Amino acid sequence: MKLGIVGLPNVGKSTLFNSLTKAGAESANYPFCTIDPNVGVVTVPDERLNVLGEMYQTKKIVPAVIEFVDIAGLVKGASKGEGLGNQFLANIREVDAIVHVVRCFEDSNIVHVDGSINPMRDVETINFELIFSDIEILERRIAKVVKLSRNDKAAAKELEMLKRLKAWLEDGKLAKTFELLDEEEEEWFGTYNLLTAKPVIFAANVTEEDLPDDGANNEGVQALRAYAAQENCEVFVVCAQIEQEIAELEEDEKKMFLEDLGLKESGLEKLIRASYHLLGLISYLTAGEPEVRAWTITKGTKAPQAAGKIHTDFERGFIRAEVVSYDDLIACGSHAAAREKGLIRLEGKDYVVQDGDIMLFRFNV
Ligand code: GDP
Repeated sequence: MKLGIVGLPNVGKSTLFNSLTKAGAESANYPFCTIDPNVGVVTVPDERLNVLGEMYQTKKIVPAVIEFVDIAGLVKGASKGEGLGNQFLANIREVDAIVHVVRCFEDSNIVHVDGSINPMRDVETINFELIFSDIEILERRIAKVVKLSRNDKAAAKELEMLKRLKAWLEDGKLAKTFELLDEEEEEWFGTYNLLTAKPVIFAANVTEEDLPDDGANNEGVQALRAYAAQENCEVFVVCAQIEQEIAELEEDEKKMFLEDLGLKESGLEKLIRASYHLLGLISYLTAGEPEVRAWTITKGTKAPQAAGKIHTDFERGFIRAEVVSYDDLIACGSHAAAREKGLIRLEGKDYVVQDGDIMLFRFNV
């Protein structure tokens, strides 16, 4: 599962990416991925792990992780192949969701590619490139389907939908707000892998002064919020520069620094968690003295497949799972107390695992 960080040049993408990977690398049991400097493995902050760690006197805590990719170089004209534009668009096609960094900070020392700070214009510029690239994809598909549609009913139906979708994009709208009429259309739509169909989070990069009130007095942020609400997206206010400074601090220094800024947690932590949810991911947990760990599954995963994340043998030989919800376990104070109160459930192969379930799997070898 990968998120791509996109945005115009000089909006703070690399600064944000560096602070993300630095924050992640330091607390992780995962080696920071150095093969590709533009890909970073980032741990997902989860306070529940620390609480369980205390309860079980755990030696090791292993958080969930997601990958971020810094996709630099998206500029006006990218979709027409200007610069390395097409390569960047191809990189975006490979990610599951997009973090779109938008510059909402003034700083006369840092040049804006279009001369002034105007978040909505920037969003439109990027959207235009993404839409244009999607239209090209559709045109290629249309060229293929036209031939088939002469004596194939399904192809004729797909062609009709392709034309409708293309007109939608040509109108400046995003594929994700296009109405799909039936399951067949949904299936076709999925195979095009359109850029503007991917889920998006906006990261509004503001100055430090805009942090305490979450950008409420920043006109750019306000405009972005209004737009995002319309498109069903979320906006997160961050200050990339501050995040970079925070990422270099020790844990206790970090707390003090955030308190001074009037914040409970860093914007980055919120952003990482939101990204995880945006991808449709949840964590189930395993807890014991050797290790407390978060395991990543997609929402809707059943118990055997969830067990398979730990080991394929767990899935193959799955018998049942002992499950207690995080809240129940914490309320009881210990696993034994939860058992006495009958809060440890036995669940079978059709059980849909929930976020925060603490699982113990029984299986045949
Ligand atoms: P990118 O081209 O989008 O990757 O942008 P960079 O991350 O390289 O940032 C461009 C410049 O803006 C750098 O000089 C950063 O130090 C600066 N910058 C990034 N974020 C902020 C911010 O929140 N506030 C200010 N004042 N400058 C920032």
